Amino acid sequence: MIEYESLGQSNAAFMTELEAAAVRVIRSGWYVLGKEVSAFEAEFGTYIGAKHCIGVANGLDALILSIEALDLPKGSDILVAANTYIATILAILRAGHQPVLVEAELATFNMDPALLPGAMTKKTRAICVTHMFGKICRMDAIAAFAKEHGLKLIEDCAQSHGAKLNGKMSGTFGNAGCFSFYPTKNLGAVGDAGAITTDDDALADRLRHLRNYGSKQKYVNKYPGVNSRLDELQAALLRVKLQHLDAMTAHKRALADIYDQHLPDWVIKPRRREDEFDVFHIYGIRHPERDALRQYLLDNGVKTEVHYPIPPHRQEAMAGILSGNYPIAEEQHATELSLPISNGHTADDIQRVCDVISGFTKTK
Ligand SMILES: *Cc1c(COP(=O)(O)O)cnc(C)c1O
Repeated sequence: MIEYESLGQSNAAFMTELEAAAVRVIRSGWYVLGKEVSAFEAEFGTYIGAKHCIGVANGLDALILSIEALDLPKGSDILVAANTYIATILAILRAGHQPVLVEAELATFNMDPALLPGAMTKKTRAICVTHMFGKICRMDAIAAFAKEHGLKLIEDCAQSHGAKLNGKMSGTFGNAGCFSFYPTKNLGAVGDAGAITTDDDALADRLRHLRNYGSKQKYVNKYPGVNSRLDELQAALLRVKLQHLDAMTAHKRALADIYDQHLPDWVIKPRRREDEFDVFHIYGIRHPERDALRQYLLDNGVKTEVHYPIPPHRQEAMAGILSGNYPIAEEQHATELSLPISNGHTADDIQRVCDVISGFTKTK
């Protein structure tokens, strides 16, 4: 059986280093907001090319705190991708604002910049983009639009560690870049973790307070904050994996090349462009008989995923909050199939997936 991803397998090459880092933290006797967190923040900020990096508890909190820290008028409209993972939308709601959905381009699964003018309202104050599946959005067009209309810009980089547009990394285009280090992400911890990148000194200072009860100095509270700290153990483990991130990305990109070359023509593959450096958090193909193809793969020993089975506007949690028709989001959710593409997979695994797919008898 080829798993969609086995995290033990993905981390196998780093096991000795991870174990040494964990032991170092346990023996240090210091477990929350210490040397490891500061070191990881400095190293990850440098990697991304941002002036500041603030570690937080998870990706959702990175989004909520960043949006809160912008201090927009309560109840502002924030433009967000209709096909994003629901966390982006939940963060906007938690921060006291209204998500306004913008459809994606099917070829990239990313927010379509051409639809931004039509989505603007009198209350629009920000855009929150998601770099879907490890492919960066067209930040040239989106950042220009935000600037022209005086909108704040937040990047959801939970799937895009190291993704670039014209050599510029995701997490450096807007006011803040929000990262998740959930175990399955391209840079994954051994538990929950997240971070925010920004070049804005004032925003960074506010975020450092907000993540720790509104306090930077013990028992002095400047803002009504929360407890959303990155812990020393996760930070130490992330420092190990950050050193291998470029190699893991190169591995995923090599596996994507095999798919690009060896999948049959009738599969709709991700768009590749010279100026987009894709990190393939997900290799998402599309096919009208997605469910039959998925079952066929399972019957032949290949596990896959769907990102995502239900679009946000169809979720029960969003009844009365999100309205309107989103045919592109529906089409993606009906036809997308995510193929195995992890650090634990070999070129042979991926070739096998291609061979199995080639044996599928399509009726459409
Ligand atoms: C994973 C993910 C998040 C949430 O990250 P957590 O660390 O699980 O809170 C947010 N947005 C997107 C697009 C994600 O894929």
